[in-house]
Amino acid sequence: MTGTTHRMVALVLLFWVGVAAVHAQDAGGGAGTASPVSLEEVLSRTGARLQWDPYRQQGALVRGGRMLSFALGSTTAVQDLSAVHRVEPPRRDGGTLEFGQDFLALALQVFPPPGQTRRISAIFIDPGHGGRDPGAIGQHTIDGEVQRVEEKDIVLTVGQRLHALLTARYPDKEIVLSRDTDDYLTLEERTTLANGIEAGPNESVIFISIHANASLNRSARGFEVWFLPPEFRRRNLVSAEDAGVEDPDVLSILNTMREEEITLESVLLARNVLSGMEGSVGLGTPNRGLREESWYVVRNAKMPSILIEVGFVTNRDEFLQLQNDAYLQRLSEGIYTGVTNFVRSFEEVGVE
Ligand SMILES: [Zn+2]
Repeated sequence: MTGTTHRMVALVLLFWVGVAAVHAQDAGGGAGTASPVSLEEVLSRTGARLQWDPYRQQGALVRGGRMLSFALGSTTAVQDLSAVHRVEPPRRDGGTLEFGQDFLALALQVFPPPGQTRRISAIFIDPGHGGRDPGAIGQHTIDGEVQRVEEKDIVLTVGQRLHALLTARYPDKEIVLSRDTDDYLTLEERTTLANGIEAGPNESVIFISIHANASLNRSARGFEVWFLPPEFRRRNLVSAEDAGVEDPDVLSILNTMREEEITLESVLLARNVLSGMEGSVGLGTPNRGLREESWYVVRNAKMPSILIEVGFVTNRDEFLQLQNDAYLQRLSEGIYTGVTNFVRSFEEVGVE
C-alpha cells in the first residue's frame, strides 16, 4: 500500500474522531457481528477513498471511477449507483466505522486489489443452431422467384466475421467459436464448451450467442440484445476450494454477489453491443433495445453472457439485408465495436 493511502486513512480517522465526539451517545447500538472489519482495513485492502456525509450518515468508497455507497445501520449497499447488494449494516465503533465480512468481500470485488485487476481472457462466440437444426427460416418471393434463407447460415457468417475481427484485435486473448462449420451442437454442448475454458482467479470469459429472429408479424424487424434476468439464481459459481472458505453462509454470500456481478456485467456488455450495432446499422434498422430472458444457453454459462438477435428473416427487407455481404460485415463490425468497448471498460476498472 502506498504512503498516500496511509495519509488518507489518517485524515479520515481524524475526521471521524470529530464526528464521533458530536454523536457519541448513539454509538455502539448495533447488533454484534462475528468478526467485524474496521474502516481502516477496508480502505487499506481496497485502496479506496471514503467520502462521508455526516448529515445523512451515508458514505461511499470510491476508486478509479467506481463507487460503493452505504449508510449507517442500513442493509443496502449500492454499487456504481445501479446494483443493489444486501450487507450486514455498517455501524459506528468509537471514532470510526465497522463493517461485516460480507461488506469487505463486496468491496474487494468492486475494487480489486492493485496487481489483481481483472481481464477478459477469452471470448466465446456461439452462432446458434447448425446442421439438422436450421433455426428460423425466411422464405419470400423476390422478382417472381421463391427464395429461402436459414438462420444457421446467417449467424455462422456473423460469428466467423466477429471471430476474425476479435482475433486480430486481441492476440493475447482466446477467441473461440462454438462451431465453424454447419454442425449441430446441443445447447448443453455449447455451455459445456464455454464453461470449460480455463480462466485464472482474476480472469473472465464472456459469452456471445448469435441468432436471427422470426415472427408471424411480417412487419417486425430490427435487432435486439438479451441478457439474463437477475431473478435467475445460479448455484456454485464460487467453490469452497477457490474461495478458500468452508463456511456455507459465507459461500452463499459470495455466490449471490458473483451472480449480481455477472448480471451487471451482462447488462453492460448488452448495452455496449446494442450501441455498437446502433452505430453500424442503426440508421436503417430499428434498435429494439435491451431484453431480459432466461435463455437456456445463457442461463447455464457461468460468465457474463448475452444473446444477440441480428434481425428478422420473416421481414422481407431484412431477409434481403441478411443475405447482403456488406450488411453482414457492418453488423459484425457493430457487435465488435460493442465488445471492444465493454472489454476496455471492464479491464480499466480498478486502475487509478
Ligand atoms: Zn435462433
